[in-house]
Amino acid sequence: MGKYLKIIAAVLVVSIFIGLITHISKLQATVKALMEQNEQLQNENSALTIDLELARQEAQLGGQTPTKPMQPKFAYLTFDDGPSANTEQILNILQEYGVKATFFVIGSETEYGKHLYRRIVEEGHAIGLHSYNHVYADIYKSEEAFMDSMYKLRELIEETTGVRPDILRFPGGSNTSYAKHYGGPDLAASLVARIHREGMQYFDWNVSSLDATKPVVETNVIVEATLRGAQGRNQAIVLLHDAPAKRTTVEALPAIIEGLLAQGYTFEVLKRDTPPVHFRLP
Ligand SMILES: [Zn+2]
Repeated sequence: MGKYLKIIAAVLVVSIFIGLITHISKLQATVKALMEQNEQLQNENSALTIDLELARQEAQLGGQTPTKPMQPKFAYLTFDDGPSANTEQILNILQEYGVKATFFVIGSETEYGKHLYRRIVEEGHAIGLHSYNHVYADIYKSEEAFMDSMYKLRELIEETTGVRPDILRFPGGSNTSYAKHYGGPDLAASLVARIHREGMQYFDWNVSSLDATKPVVETNVIVEATLRGAQGRNQAIVLLHDAPAKRTTVEALPAIIEGLLAQGYTFEVLKRDTPPVHFRLP
């Protein structure tokens, strides 16, 4: 009997052992499966979280005004042919309104002229080149003549104000017939290439105040031309003049500023990296 009991006991022990091993490996498999399932659920959960975040962002966007946001509108008042006594009055008006503008100046070696160059710079306006003497027959004779006139002016301004201008306006505009007349059909294009090669930018205009169509233009004509020309734009580069004769431009300035503000414009100064207005070359 003792022998059989031993055998039975041994078989039992072995079966229990096998059973335990089987059970443990089953448990291990279950644990592994559960862990995999858990990981998958976690992945699904984070995917759902992302979906939810996207949905929330879309909902927020949808909740905003359906129309597209207001485009900022920039007006650049530009004054050519100064400095003169009119420049001084224009500076006073700009100061009163807290408006900054751009002055494309010519050469003036007088103390008064230098004082005005300094005021332009010190009061936060931009100063640009418009040739030393504005004499078409001189400056449009050749590429070198044009550049020499600009360099001479640039040196004077830098000496006087400490600022070295890197923007310019062609006297008469970049498509002026004077360039072709005095310098030949290719002069304008070679000047444009030269200006850009030297790291400068030139600006024509897309709003004319008409203040140079005759020696003295009526104030209301200047105001109306400017405000009509600026309508419906996002960028208005306004051509004005501060030469000695242009007293009606001074008179027109407050109404021009108020009218452009009413049209939603913000005033800015021209910089080398401002999106330029360039005329098509003839
Ligand atoms: Zn000019």
